[in-house]
Amino acid sequence: MLGNLKPQAPDKILSLMAEYKADTRQGKVDLGVGVYKDPEGVTPIMRAVKKAEQRILETQNTKAYTGLAGTQEYRDAMAGLVLENAPADRLASVATVGGTGAVRQGLELVRMANPDAVVHVSDPTWPNHLSILKFMGQAFVEYPYFDNATRGVDFDAMLAAIGKAKKGDVVLLHGCCHNPTGANPDAGQWDDIAASLEKTGAVPLIDLAYQGFGDGLDADAAATRMLASRLPEVLIAASCSKNFGVYRERTGILMALGEGSEARDLTQGAMAYLNRQNYSFPPDHGARIVSTILDDAELRQDWKTELEEMRRTMLDLRKQLAEELRNLGGNDNFDFIEHHRGMFSRLGATAEQVAKMKEDSGIYMVGDSRLNIAGLNNDSVPVLARAIVEAGV
Ligand code: PMP
Repeated sequence: MLGNLKPQAPDKILSLMAEYKADTRQGKVDLGVGVYKDPEGVTPIMRAVKKAEQRILETQNTKAYTGLAGTQEYRDAMAGLVLENAPADRLASVATVGGTGAVRQGLELVRMANPDAVVHVSDPTWPNHLSILKFMGQAFVEYPYFDNATRGVDFDAMLAAIGKAKKGDVVLLHGCCHNPTGANPDAGQWDDIAASLEKTGAVPLIDLAYQGFGDGLDADAAATRMLASRLPEVLIAASCSKNFGVYRERTGILMALGEGSEARDLTQGAMAYLNRQNYSFPPDHGARIVSTILDDAELRQDWKTELEEMRRTMLDLRKQLAEELRNLGGNDNFDFIEHHRGMFSRLGATAEQVAKMKEDSGIYMVGDSRLNIAGLNNDSVPVLARAIVEAGV
């Protein structure tokens, strides 16, 4: 039986990591995998996370199962973080295995509720969105998103495409810090997206994996909160991997806002059922770290301070890189790097140019020219800027 399995294509980003590791050159630069790194190249455990873990270690007296939906503390804390004033009469939620688990369970919920739904997904998007959709056999279409000329959002084309969604379809949106491009709609454009969804009756599935990495915790949730307040139904898949730095703890949440308490109860039941079918209880350790931090004024403040430092480090690197390229090229062609938000920017380089930067300068970025800004530091920014110019990007 197992011999019938087909070989799976290796994950491109993980292959790139292996290639980087094997490269013996001094001064090589890893801009591939999407984890935050400090200027020393370390992905730190945040101070508040360490303290919360210590507290849990000292006080936890059982490892018995929690509930199918995870703990109430975690779900309440996350509803507060993402939605601020979450409408309890409309909100169903379950803890999930990371943000990926939230996306997967969200799509499974859609399939249960409307087997005829078509999922509209940005072109490009996080490759795992497409991979999950294909694996599930879920019908989907891509909507144009990135304008390669301006390296901004091709908003007119996006709006025209999502305007064709049908009632009960799903529009998958990145709540902030679009992966892989770094280009995001502005507030007025988000209003237009809301108006389009109101008109078509399509339901947004908002993937919120980088809250706090773009313009700040509240600013990054603003679009999600606006959609939640305007639309009758909203799905949100949030990840704590990046903003709490708990990548390997697999901490995420799926939230669903329905039209009143009856819909909420049905949705809550369906989401708990989905957890049961897929893995029974969601992991607790990361979720407990997150609720311990968010429910404690001191830990919460310290976490916010450290997250803000990380965000500012990335913004400073964006500024420095744009400036370096302005000086080298004598033009503002790369100012978009300063305007992009989050951990990533899509440079708009060809596959050959990406390969040349790797061969000539030891710079590793994903083949579609997505670079992880957090992989840079003050010393490697000029190296990258020169490589970009020499590759003729
Ligand atoms: N959505 C997007 C857009 C992402 O970039 C990621 C992380 N790469 C995730 C979801 C899921 O993250 P995780 O499962 O690690 O929480």
